Amino acid sequence: MTLAKGPSPLSSSGPRSPGRNRQVADLLLEVRGLSVDYGFGEDAVHAVDDVSLTIRRGEVVGLAGESGSGKSTLAFAVTRLLRDPGVITGGEAVFYEWPEGSYRAADTGGIAAQPRAVDLLTDDREVVRAIRWSDIAVVFQSALHALNPVLRIGRLIDDVLKTHEKGMSRAQRKARAEELLELVGISADRLSSYPHELSGGMRQRVMIAVAVALNPSLLVMDEPTTALDVVIQREILESLMELREKLGFSVLFITHDLSLLIEIADTIAVMYAGRLVEKAPAKALFRAPRHPYTYGLTRSFPSLHGDKKTMTGIEGSPPDLRKVPSGCPFHPRCAWAMDICAKQDPPVLTLHDASGTREVLCWLQDGAHEIPPELNKVPPAAGSAAARPSMRGTT
Ligand code: SF4
Repeated sequence: MTLAKGPSPLSSSGPRSPGRNRQVADLLLEVRGLSVDYGFGEDAVHAVDDVSLTIRRGEVVGLAGESGSGKSTLAFAVTRLLRDPGVITGGEAVFYEWPEGSYRAADTGGIAAQPRAVDLLTDDREVVRAIRWSDIAVVFQSALHALNPVLRIGRLIDDVLKTHEKGMSRAQRKARAEELLELVGISADRLSSYPHELSGGMRQRVMIAVAVALNPSLLVMDEPTTALDVVIQREILESLMELREKLGFSVLFITHDLSLLIEIADTIAVMYAGRLVEKAPAKALFRAPRHPYTYGLTRSFPSLHGDKKTMTGIEGSPPDLRKVPSGCPFHPRCAWAMDICAKQDPPVLTLHDASGTREVLCWLQDGAHEIPPELNKVPPAAGSAAARPSMRGTT
């Protein structure tokens, strides 16, 4: 394993225009140094603290962490849906708008097509609004609350198409609505149903159908299956992955359940107290975590596949964001905390091993400290079958 110390390349304030010295061939969303507070001054709560994250075309990125870690705030901020008293205090969220139909590098012959870069945080509100519907779609947790209870499903989908696909005739819109429902595994005759006539799983599928109605290149899903039982949850995830294969969109999937992400994500980022503490290829992060908090998460949820593990959870509770502990905010709960942990913020460390590159925010990984065996396991090699996400298992 090799190690590079210092700020992450993703958090540097380099040029953002495509075509300059950054690899934009596959970039879709590039979040750099994002910070979000709730409130102002001394009472401000730092909900997201200097977070950097990239999503490439066709990639599924999972964002994990306990409640209050800043996952949803990050999603609301980058989609410009943050409400008062949320305030973006720093950073960028650059969305690369690729020519239609070129969701993956292979579709464009690699770097032939050039995207338009839009900063979702600062560019004109109308530009961002248009992108939010046509290029970035958002699926929220509770489909029952997101769907209008007095509108039939068909009317809901029709409204979206009427607003954004002005050239479509009524018959074309109806045909498209039927196609969308069938895409998510619901019979077209359900277009005449009201939301309360559908099960929880069907309502969430309808939300996904609405989200993909305009062929977005990025789907942001905020705890979309949390309220559903595990069987329905799994069916929805399978449908989602099939849809992604067909339509080619990328996904930012937010959940507190790390074991769920192992099934679908290419990359997983873990947040704690507003900070991104580890980011790595999904299987490598799950099998060989480098951060003590990630290790705790892997022992908090049983995996559907693979060896049985004793679930130990994580001692203590997440910090009150109004009084975040000094140094590493995880130190009061960390079994491996050292003197330095309470005094100094750990740097972002970039590690390289057989699984690829990962970023870790922990003093243990700085090369000057002995790493406990639990945080020094051998990860699956990049490209191996064991390293790829699969709905069929992790073994
Ligand atoms: Fe634990 Fe220290 Fe690493 Fe924080 S920096 S996770 S307290 S070892």
